[in-house]
Amino acid sequence: MSLATLAARGAIALGDGRFVVDTIEVDPPGPGEVRVRLAAAGLCHTDHQSLGWPGPLVMGHEGAGVIEALGEGVEHLALGQRVLLNWAIPCGRCVRCAAGEGHLCDRTHGVDPSLGRSDAAEGGTRWLGRPIGRAFRLGTLSELTVVRAEALTRIPAALPLHHACILGCGVMTGVGSVIHSAKVQPGDSVAVIGCGGVGLSVIQGARIAGVGRIVAVDRRAEGLERARAFGATDTVGVHEDDVELRQAAAAVRLLTGGRGVDHAFEATGVDRLAFAPLRFVRHGGTALQVSGTRGAASVDPVDFWWDKRYLVPLYGGCQPDRDFPQLARWALDGRLDLQRMVTRRYGLDALPQAMDDLLSGRNIKGVIEFGDVA
Ligand SMILES: [Zn+2]
Ligand SMILES: [Zn+2]
Repeated sequence: MSLATLAARGAIALGDGRFVVDTIEVDPPGPGEVRVRLAAAGLCHTDHQSLGWPGPLVMGHEGAGVIEALGEGVEHLALGQRVLLNWAIPCGRCVRCAAGEGHLCDRTHGVDPSLGRSDAAEGGTRWLGRPIGRAFRLGTLSELTVVRAEALTRIPAALPLHHACILGCGVMTGVGSVIHSAKVQPGDSVAVIGCGGVGLSVIQGARIAGVGRIVAVDRRAEGLERARAFGATDTVGVHEDDVELRQAAAAVRLLTGGRGVDHAFEATGVDRLAFAPLRFVRHGGTALQVSGTRGAASVDPVDFWWDKRYLVPLYGGCQPDRDFPQLARWALDGRLDLQRMVTRRYGLDALPQAMDDLLSGRNIKGVIEFGDVA
């Protein structure tokens, strides 16, 4: 175990839309913290958004690696263990954590001012001699990071780390939204709007949950083809002039005897479509927005008729100790296909190319790999 400050290569968002790959310094872990040598980090659209956050900060929030050093008081983890990082770090002590909703932790999300913000781990990283932050208190686009021990979950050695890393955001969000948020039951019907990384994870979750009919909705023929490969039973293409998805919704209702599906998931990332899934569900059905849009969208109250529910789940209700081992088991027994989700792997220096590919939708998931991890 090294208790020295170490140099590492990392991607730094500058706060003005640009980023650089450069050398940073990472301190040894403080009390309750762990230093992780990252093996792989998945990319998602949030990483692109983070370029505009107040910087500079180390980018990245999906990652898997190996424990390199343990801080004082961390007893349930050991050096050399393979771990997955989670970005909604539960404190384990607030009201929401005590209620078993650690993904909504009041401390991590800064809701309860008396708790303060849990940014103790935000020290410990410097660039050009100055302390800098890390995205989601993780900063996985770096060879090394220091995080709170609660951000880590052990994963089986048999699971390749370049597959494991994507469990930490997009896959968890998609699969968890199906199982924990929508509480989909065997035989239910589901529509998935948008067949990128999150949408395909929704489809995989629905298949694992035993859904009878999984209707994929996408503009691109390629998206629909992928959807079929991951378990969609039906596909509906979106016509170019169908900007509100009214025609697509009508086509999905036709497939379900005019009623609409039990659950519809929006996974497009397009602001104006945030409420679109309401038009795909039956009376009393559940519409979910899982792509994390934040821009304004208008909705007709009639779309909520009758007794429809609308949810914007956070992180698929992620409880790391429950969900990551389960996802890893499904990946190992072949039910959760991660191999075909990771369509391209890059070295850290190819991050500009990887970000271009992210924005153009060329990958399902692109993964950055760091060399020489056990
Ligand atoms: Zn908490
Ligand atoms: Zn993400």
